[in-house]
Order: sequence, then C-alpha cells, then structure tokens
Amino acid sequence: MIISVASGKGGTGKTTVATNLALSMDRTVQFLDCDVEEPNAHIFLKPQIEQRKSVGIPVPEVNEEKCTHCGKCQEICAFNAIAVIKNKVLIFPELCHGCGGCSLLCPEKAIREVDKEIGIIQIGKVGPIEFINGKLNVGEAMSPPLIRTVKKSIANGKIAIIDAPPGTSCPVIESIKNSDFCILVTESTPFGLNDLILAVEVVKKLEIPFGVIINRFDIGDDKVDLYCKENEIPILMLIPFDMEIASLYSRGIPMVQEKKEYTTKFLDMFKLIENLRQQKAKEK
Ligand code: SF4
Ligand code: SF4
Repeated sequence: MIISVASGKGGTGKTTVATNLALSMDRTVQFLDCDVEEPNAHIFLKPQIEQRKSVGIPVPEVNEEKCTHCGKCQEICAFNAIAVIKNKVLIFPELCHGCGGCSLLCPEKAIREVDKEIGIIQIGKVGPIEFINGKLNVGEAMSPPLIRTVKKSIANGKIAIIDAPPGTSCPVIESIKNSDFCILVTESTPFGLNDLILAVEVVKKLEIPFGVIINRFDIGDDKVDLYCKENEIPILMLIPFDMEIASLYSRGIPMVQEKKEYTTKFLDMFKLIENLRQQKAKEK
C-alpha cells in the first residue's frame, strides 16, 4: 500500500506526520522523501545511508557538421529548450525535459543525447524503515524525473510512505499519483483552508482516496473542520499546538520518540486508513 503525505502549503507539519507515521508502524515500511528540492525527513529519521546514485536526464547535443539548420528541433520542442539562430543551434539544458523529441525528429540525425545530472538519490536504513530520498541539484528545475526515480524503489507488497513536496504543482502530482491513499495535512487558519481546498481538488482529480490531519487545530478557527464535515472528508487526526512538540521538532527529534502516546495515535490512524480504503474499494 502506498500512502502519500501532502499539504497545499509548506509549514503545516507534513514531514512531521510522514516521519512519525513511519516510526510508529509495527512492520517494515519504505519511506520515500520526494520533497526533492528540500528533503528534510532524514533529519528526523537519521538513516544510515548505504548508497548514493547520480540521476540524470538525456539532453540533446548537436553535431554542427551534420546540422542543416532546418529548424525542426526548435518547432518540436514544447519547452523552448532549443533554438536555431542563423547558423547555430542553441540548447538550454535547464529548460530541457529530456523527452527525446528533437533527436527523434531531426531529419539529419544530427542530435545525440547526453546525460545531464539533475540530482542524486540516497538509499539507506533505520531500524525496520527502508529510506530513500532524492536531492535535486541547486538551481535545477526539473524535479519530476528525480521524483520518478525515487518512486522506482517502491516494492510490491510493502507499505510505502511518501513525503510529497508542498503545494499543488507538477512535483506534487508526480509524487502522489498512484498512491492508494493520501493524507492531506493542514492547519486551522484561512491560509490552511484555502490551500487545503486546492489540494482536495488535486487528489479528487487523481481519484485518490484521502483524509485530513489538522495540525495545531486548537489555535485557529473552526472553518477547516466545518469544510471537512460539509464535504464528508474524513478527519484522520487532530494534533494540538504543543510547545513540547515544537521544541522536539526544532531539535530534529520525532515526537513519537518522547511522547509515546502518539505511537498509538499514528497506528490507529493507519488502521483507519486501511478501513477507509476498503470502504472505497467496495463502493467501486
Ligand atoms: S532538426 Fe537537426 S538538422 Fe534541423 S536544425 Fe535541428 S539539429 Fe539541425
Ligand atoms: S529533449 Fe525534448 S525538451 Fe529537450 S530540447 Fe529536445 S524536444 Fe526539447
């Protein structure tokens, strides 16, 4: 089962939920940090990294001797990553999505693909948790191919917990698609509600069963709660504002390590997710 943890905006406690859920599980789980622009789950899980692998995408390289400057490659590129100017072909690797279209359609076979590193994946272990994260190179914009590489580690029959990037853009969709369930973490503020509504639209479009965790539920208003009730969205857990949790977070200590009652809460939430999934499967 693949459970992704997402949030419409940053700073809601998404990584806190993902890491503490993984640490609470009573069986082997895979943890995938797909927040590749700013991976930070390792700070809390402290895995022993055993492997590092470079991840690249194929970008075009033009053989000027073969090129007739016909302009076909520029026409086909939907990302403006290749431009034919007078007698020169310019390539902008940072815009290239590595789709291979230009090399396929070049009539002179003047384009070959060369690998360009966009980041790395790291694979490690901590207790029964198999840890995988992706780290995008600084200044690199192409996170979806790296996220896809991280997700290739998902093994059939295991529970995989995905820490998705914040927001509702392409990297989030790449991270959560094909999940069996998505946990949306929000907070009880007007911003929290606004971004939750956007995130709900995304998971509904992707037809992923989902539920909501309201973090710091006791210091905002009740609009998130009302929105969930009106829209029959299950509330999976309420986490109060707690200085001790905030202090543990600031020191990179998972809350379940010091506040043992949360282990049971996260495990109960996992059972609830299993039930909700079964219900959804029956409804289909
Ligand atoms: S399609 Fe091929 S031949 Fe035409 S401009 Fe591009 S690289 Fe040159
Ligand atoms: S590989 Fe695709 S994205 Fe990259 S330059 Fe060629 S057509 Fe554009």
